[in-house]
Amino acid sequence: MGKLKFHNISSAIDLSFWHILAKKKLEEMKLEDQILNINGYYSTNNNPDIAPVFRIISDSFNENAAIPSNSIRIRGLLKVFNTKEDFISSSKPPLLQKAAEQITSENLVSFILLVYADLKNFVFTYWVGFPVFNFNPVEYEELPIQEVNLQHLKVSLAEKVDQNSLKSIFGINKTGEYEENWGESDIICYLDPASSTDFPSSVLRNILGLMSQGKQFGSKKFLAIKNGLSSNPQYFTLERSKLYNIEIPETTKDFIGWEANSKGKIQAKTIDLRPQLDPHNLATSAVDLNLKLMRWRMSPELNLDILASTKCLLLGSGTLGSQLSRNLLAWGMKNITFVDSGKVSYSNPVRQSLYEFEDAKNAVPKALRAAKKLQEIYPGVQSSGYQIEIPMPGHSISSTEDHARENYLQLESLIKEHDVVFLLTDSRESRWLPTVITSALDKICLSVALGFDSFLVVRHGGCPSDDRLGCYFCNDVVAPRNSMTDRTLDQQCTVTRPGLSYMASSVAVELLVSLLQHPLRHKAKHGDSTHLGILPHHLRGSFSTFGIASYVSSAFSKCTACCVKVIDQYLNNGFEFVKMACNDPDYLEEVCELKELEANEKLLADELIEIEDFD
Ligand SMILES: [Zn+2]
Repeated sequence: MGKLKFHNISSAIDLSFWHILAKKKLEEMKLEDQILNINGYYSTNNNPDIAPVFRIISDSFNENAAIPSNSIRIRGLLKVFNTKEDFISSSKPPLLQKAAEQITSENLVSFILLVYADLKNFVFTYWVGFPVFNFNPVEYEELPIQEVNLQHLKVSLAEKVDQNSLKSIFGINKTGEYEENWGESDIICYLDPASSTDFPSSVLRNILGLMSQGKQFGSKKFLAIKNGLSSNPQYFTLERSKLYNIEIPETTKDFIGWEANSKGKIQAKTIDLRPQLDPHNLATSAVDLNLKLMRWRMSPELNLDILASTKCLLLGSGTLGSQLSRNLLAWGMKNITFVDSGKVSYSNPVRQSLYEFEDAKNAVPKALRAAKKLQEIYPGVQSSGYQIEIPMPGHSISSTEDHARENYLQLESLIKEHDVVFLLTDSRESRWLPTVITSALDKICLSVALGFDSFLVVRHGGCPSDDRLGCYFCNDVVAPRNSMTDRTLDQQCTVTRPGLSYMASSVAVELLVSLLQHPLRHKAKHGDSTHLGILPHHLRGSFSTFGIASYVSSAFSKCTACCVKVIDQYLNNGFEFVKMACNDPDYLEEVCELKELEANEKLLADELIEIEDFD
């Protein structure tokens, strides 16, 4: 005879559980903080040095998940607090009581996991309550295990393991037969996760409490099964199992059971996941965090997946390309490609955020350096760079035809591979060919241009159709030509107020993000709106007024870059058409019948003069 003591069962929480919790909090729970159901698991084992534990694992959120082999499922609770202050100040006894309400003859033990998740730093503050009946020490007597027909029991247990129908508690009769209804059984058997032979675990404590609450008083025999089990009875023994004779005590519905921390104090614990995480994964999670938090309160409908999967091609990796790519990164865009024919020069680093002095010293190709720099900023990005000279009207390619053809084909295939093309080059004519190709392929295309103190951002209307919005060239009645000859130095270089590129690239990226939220994408009309606000066609901003205004213009039926005739020429004749347009911009005006328009306008003007004269 002696006083019975119990081994407490402590929690062991898998790292994978914390990862899933972080994801769920961020994406599903958001600001909700009601108590949720989760599962824990325990099992018997063969190592007497292992303290009894129940595990909370990655599957713990899944109510219907398969139970790990040889394990017993525990129904428990989870409460995730929104602030650390709430976590600390919340009244704990009612929470433990809630978990205790889960204790039944089907669920001998339960738990509640309280968590405050600092998702910014991957630190979780948590406390596990494992409620057990609180009663005065009871007398017990250990009986010789030989009283039990262990061989018979082993066969029954192996069968249950094999059928995956192992119960946490059952009975055996005098001849050792297995009995599902254990209330009247000769011996009550239960699986005990405390594998050391000195005392049982608190599973028995709760069995005694439940029997007491059910007024099943009197003296009862309990078999604590303390060995690991298998579906083959030859592969396990029950040698460390214990048989006790216990008088069922009087109990109240009074529960204790908050876990101690590593210092033995009844206090919350913390786990810092940073050391376990790969820095690249940490960066990815942290970048996603800022975006996903937008969905908590400010913009619940925000579709981040579409942003993450959109492939952006930036034609030009100078002042605009640098800033714009960083804005794309900030929005979680993960596929960014640069095209630029130039090399980093000494004037670049102060204005173009992707380059440094050393890049200028080594005259590295801009597109390649930009792609690499982006990966240095955020390794999760898929970025690449191509040194391509875009064929341009007015820039004859007769002497460099093979080179131009190669550039043309490479540009065309890049545009095909991407979803969005940004036109960010510093000359008008270099935007012509990409406008033609993106219109023909119906890609999203945004053109950004800078003046000295003003900027323009325009979204192109895509392939020719009725009611289409205009492209960058739609307001022109002449073909783009070589704008670089006969120009003074200030006319050749981008002379702009330095802040302008930041502003213009921000506006362009925000317009794209809004556009991607609309089901019609670039086909959305001017003034259509999404949960983020309206979708203008084009925007002009100026530092002389510090204002931005939105405008709309329709596609021009004789546009040199997006009209049906040009698109047909491109689709039917490909490089041959491009070659003719580059060698002779007049040819382009003929294709678009702009010459006729000019003649008609002249006629109309003459008529007007005549009418005026007549007056
Ligand atoms: Zn156009």
